Amino acid sequence: MSAEKHIALVGAGLAGSLLAIFLARRGFRVSVYERRPDMRRHAIPAGRSINLALAHRGIRPLKLVGLLEEVQKLLIPMPGRMLHDEHDQLTFTPYGRTPTEVIHSVSRPGLNALLMDAAEAAGVEILFRQRCDHVDFETVTLHLTDESSRREYTIRAKPVIATDGGGSAVRQAMVNRLGIKVTEDILPHGYKELSIPAGKNGEHRMEREALHIWPRGGYMLIALPNLDGSFTVTLFLAREGEPGLGALQKPQALLAFFGKHFPNACKLIPGLQDEFYQHPTGVMSTVHSSSWHVQDKVLLLGDAAHAIVPFHGQGMNCAFEDCLILDQCIESQGDDWEKVFAEFERRRRPDAEAIAEMALENYVEMRDTVRDPKFHLQKQLGFLLEELHPERFIPRYSMVMFHPIPYAAAQQRGAVQTEILETLLRRAESIADVDLALAARLIRERLAPIRLSAER
Ligand SMILES: Cc1cc2nc3c(=O)[nH]c(=O)nc-3n(C[C@H](O)[C@H](O)[C@H](O)COP(=O)(O)OP(=O)(O)OC[C@H]3O[C@@H](n4cnc5c(N)ncnc54)[C@H](O)[C@@H]3O)c2cc1C
Repeated sequence: MSAEKHIALVGAGLAGSLLAIFLARRGFRVSVYERRPDMRRHAIPAGRSINLALAHRGIRPLKLVGLLEEVQKLLIPMPGRMLHDEHDQLTFTPYGRTPTEVIHSVSRPGLNALLMDAAEAAGVEILFRQRCDHVDFETVTLHLTDESSRREYTIRAKPVIATDGGGSAVRQAMVNRLGIKVTEDILPHGYKELSIPAGKNGEHRMEREALHIWPRGGYMLIALPNLDGSFTVTLFLAREGEPGLGALQKPQALLAFFGKHFPNACKLIPGLQDEFYQHPTGVMSTVHSSSWHVQDKVLLLGDAAHAIVPFHGQGMNCAFEDCLILDQCIESQGDDWEKVFAEFERRRRPDAEAIAEMALENYVEMRDTVRDPKFHLQKQLGFLLEELHPERFIPRYSMVMFHPIPYAAAQQRGAVQTEILETLLRRAESIADVDLALAARLIRERLAPIRLSAER
């Protein structure tokens, strides 16, 4: 590829920084315009998902650009969920069937900074405090504001790839100027980020290697471990109504709510009041955009194209997989950007729709279904069937988190598998009661063998 070809990315978040590396490796000249100050030199405001769950789909592209070893230093494995019931009884349930099937807690700023360092080392130019305001699609001109000097200016680059997140300014320009249709389904629930500090000797004050969940039916608290011994805690709760975030505006109400529903977690969060009132209330939404690209000029990628709710821990993973798929489209189409963007959208749209739906479903599972003994029996049976029929049956959670099986295929196979599990458990009280011969027949009849990629 010619080094003269100049690509402009908008947004040096997780997707933008990784995509810049993929593009630089192909010989493109890449400039990234990022609204925020450089997070490697300035602290980012608290309260915005400080840590994230990284899974196989996210790890694979990081490995392909040679960053896995560095990234591994930032990871804490989470082999399963630790459920805390109302009486603080703990139940640990593994996420996968084998010890290698784990997800990892990773610091968002730590990972983003690592990706920015690697992008710059690959020759990418990242320009901070440069906000994209809108785009002229006719001439492919970005209208920017330098946030330091307030100077407004324009640049021309082709193509432009928008990795500017869920509130994408580039997507908004496509709506305003080209009439593309975008819907944003805002969840009636919001979130507040809190923290459990490390113990006196820097130790974790709960099990370190687990994703902690306090499921309470209509709402939940979760906690992911950090390397410094702390946990980042998130309360997910309706924004309005009772119980709701809006009803917790007085400290008395806040303490009564936590004391009643999360008494033991509450004792571990000394900054509960300060953090609750100082941190912003996070809004979660699913974004559907009728188009992700404009000819050979502009492409939306990551959250800018398809933001989803966070309950499957897949937004970043999906955005990283987007980078890999776009790279594959460039491999097959060269720099014929119209073909590259069209192929990307064709391949990726069904998967984005599928993970958006599965992420919404997973909210109910995390905050409610995990409390039902039937759920655990179904999980157990799922693992057994995977062990007996690994070429055809893989639990849906595992397909999403531990395999590069396209999301749409995982969703479709998952629906069939749920029917099979429900049939088998209709009259079974335990695994010993399950008719395994019937299981084998149903699986053979209803599930084609999965072609698992050799590249795991
Ligand atoms: C509470 C919560 C928990 C989550 N947990 C997980 C998880 O466990 N696992 C997971 O995989 N995903 C998780 N996600 C989702 C994940 O955070 C996103 O999917 C991911 O950050 C998307 O990456 P992105 O680069 O597309 O967008 P972003 O990370 O949002 O990056 C966008 C970048 O663009 C910049 N920008 C924005 N507007 C402009 C502009 N006009 N001009 C220039 N720059 C601009 C921003 O400053 C930012 O740097 C979670 C999300 C939330 C809210």
